[in-house]
Amino acid sequence: MSFLSITNAVKTFGTNTVVKGFDLAVEKGEFVSFLGPSGCGKTTVLRMIAGFERPTSGKITIDGRDVTDLAPNKRRIGMVFQAYALFPNMNVAGNIAFGLKIAGLGKAETEARVQEMLGLIGLSHLAERYPYEMSGGQQQRVALARALAPKPQVLLLDEPLSALDAKIRVSLREEIRDIQRRLGITTVFVTHDQEEAMSISDRIVVMNGGRADQIGTPSEIYNRPSTRFVAGFVGTLNVLRARLERQPQTVTVAGTSVQLAQPVRTADADGNLSLALRPEALSLRPSEGRDVAFDGLVKSVNFMGSVIRIRMDVGGEAISFDMFNSPDLVPPAVGARATAHAASRDMFEL
Ligand code: ADP
Ligand code: MG
Repeated sequence: MSFLSITNAVKTFGTNTVVKGFDLAVEKGEFVSFLGPSGCGKTTVLRMIAGFERPTSGKITIDGRDVTDLAPNKRRIGMVFQAYALFPNMNVAGNIAFGLKIAGLGKAETEARVQEMLGLIGLSHLAERYPYEMSGGQQQRVALARALAPKPQVLLLDEPLSALDAKIRVSLREEIRDIQRRLGITTVFVTHDQEEAMSISDRIVVMNGGRADQIGTPSEIYNRPSTRFVAGFVGTLNVLRARLERQPQTVTVAGTSVQLAQPVRTADADGNLSLALRPEALSLRPSEGRDVAFDGLVKSVNFMGSVIRIRMDVGGEAISFDMFNSPDLVPPAVGARATAHAASRDMFEL
């Protein structure tokens, strides 16, 4: 049996149903992310796990125990919020000790645990600081230590990095993941940032309108998106209009005839369909396996550092892909004619 399970959870506020039958089973020690646009119900599901919201219907169990009707403080949950959630009138040590005092831990034990947590987040030297004397990243590390101090069974993080600068965001997410692994704590992490979710999760729940559209490992979600929404939300995607020809596997796309790996499933009555391909499936270099050539015009060339992003118009369709940078690379000129090569097996219907 999984460590944390949510079964057919529904949440209605007034007449507005915002969680519409949500199922998830999280294994012990797993790091699962909820990924989805603002308003899709991520926080509401997290708050139901924590006990701050009661499901309208459905069931939640932790470690085999039905907690659906249990108060938050009885659930052994640690929670970290977006930002500014530390007690401003307490220093770092006081903030970390807060939950321990409530749990009735003695003075010596509390102090030892606070020291241990400070070591874990690498802030032993800042125990006496107050929140306003620290950076946002340091404050969030303290918030993490405060959440972990009472040894919760499940850690819940609600967009803990979204108020931070890009660089801190990346380094702190690695640190959170590292601490999570070391403690082996079952974790649910909420984010609207697909790169963040892809980079640190064991599994991702892609949420859309109060439901889980797809649950899978980052590579399953990226390489085999099960819905059009997931395909568009995770990673970047080129979507090309195509037309079915007489044979069930042949389509015309951007003026080029393409032989698909499988018969077309999604064409409308007029034979129109959408074909998607990831940017990395396109290249200016022909190679074995890249059996489709799209001729067109280079519309823009953006230097991005380690890669150069090329946008092209091919027969009225827009495509975008990256070239790896190297010191001797000569990128194509804007306005030049070029050919983008792709493999038909990398194209999928949306
Ligand atoms: P997310 O975290 O994915 O941005 P939320 O779970 O916060 O989404 O919200 C989902 C929907 O539920 C939104 O439309 C929001 O306005 C609504 N909602 C959330 N909490 C409440 C509440 N306490 N009362 C009424 N509506 C709410
Ligand atoms: Mg939210």
